Amino acid sequence: MCILIEITKKIKGQSLFNEPLSKYTSWKVGGPADIFFIPQSRNDLSDFLKSNHDKPITWLGNGTNILVRDGGIRGAVIATKKFLNEIKKEEHNACRVEVGASCMDLALFAEKNELGPAAFFSGIPGSIGGALVMNAGSFGHETWDFVDSVEVIDEEGVIHNLNRKDFKVSYRTVKCPFPLWFVSCLMKFSESETTTKSELKEYRDQRLKTQPLNEDTCGSVFKNPEKGHAGALIERAGLKGHRIGGCSISNKHANFIVNEGSATSKNIEDLIKHVQKAVKKKHNIDLETEVRILGED
Ligand SMILES: Cc1cc2nc3c(=O)[nH]c(=O)nc-3n(C[C@H](O)[C@H](O)[C@H](O)COP(=O)(O)OP(=O)(O)OC[C@H]3O[C@@H](n4cnc5c(N)ncnc54)[C@H](O)[C@@H]3O)c2cc1C
Repeated sequence: MCILIEITKKIKGQSLFNEPLSKYTSWKVGGPADIFFIPQSRNDLSDFLKSNHDKPITWLGNGTNILVRDGGIRGAVIATKKFLNEIKKEEHNACRVEVGASCMDLALFAEKNELGPAAFFSGIPGSIGGALVMNAGSFGHETWDFVDSVEVIDEEGVIHNLNRKDFKVSYRTVKCPFPLWFVSCLMKFSESETTTKSELKEYRDQRLKTQPLNEDTCGSVFKNPEKGHAGALIERAGLKGHRIGGCSISNKHANFIVNEGSATSKNIEDLIKHVQKAVKKKHNIDLETEVRILGED
């Protein structure tokens, strides 16, 4: 910890110590990060990585797909939301998107610049960085359907340009060629399709009907197994409304866990394990989490 404090003294950008991560996650739970680093330029980011040898680094997007345990995260958490957030139109129905931009920003940009189909991004509350890592998707489209190339940064703070073919992409899974973090991506959209205001509204209405959007959740907790939908399996196991501590399975959508206000990360993790056990018993299916569980108890 002392070494980390010394490192941050030499580097530009903002460093916060023992910063509670509950402030940055959509479940509103999670213990502190030893260091919470907010770079103000690519150079800051690079300098921080160069001087941070052997210290664990966790990258944070909008915190809408992570469960940070109550003990928090050791080492440094890097948050790029405040500076890497530009979206620029490029030739041939393309745009360059930095990872701190939100999926909603991209959907609105696409609507304004006649790019599409991108309405599916509108209801995903994450950042483009998170969407690249998760291959986030909805309504039949996935993020990597549109990725042409990416700019990434490695553990030494060196920036590389990689092509889509350098990655192995599947449902909510992206395998990278080496340890890296995403900085920006070039997205190429269809020559004939656009994104319309009515699609944005239609998708929003559809989500409002089926998902508990006004509550503190992390979206779908489990990936859909090969056969069936995780939500339907959980509902058929009789778990809607099931509660542990301050959290419960949503009555609106069984694949959502709601923090009712006083949940701890442990409550949520215990509920996740309970669901996995119950679904295994009832359907003999292993549910895998879509949500990433990070940090220490
Ligand atoms: C109400 C609600 C609805 C949702 N609907 C959908 C949906 O329809 N479809 C869907 O796919 N998801 C959905 N989600 C889940 C979530 O929004 C997506 O998975 C999103 O892509 C996560 O982005 P994020 O910025 O919040 O990532 P985070 O939760 O901050 O991080 C996710 C992972 O990515 C890593 N990471 C983040 N940025 C970078 C980077 N630049 N480089 C390397 N690693 C990075 C983090 O370390 C972490 O491991 C929903 C969530 C909520 C709360």
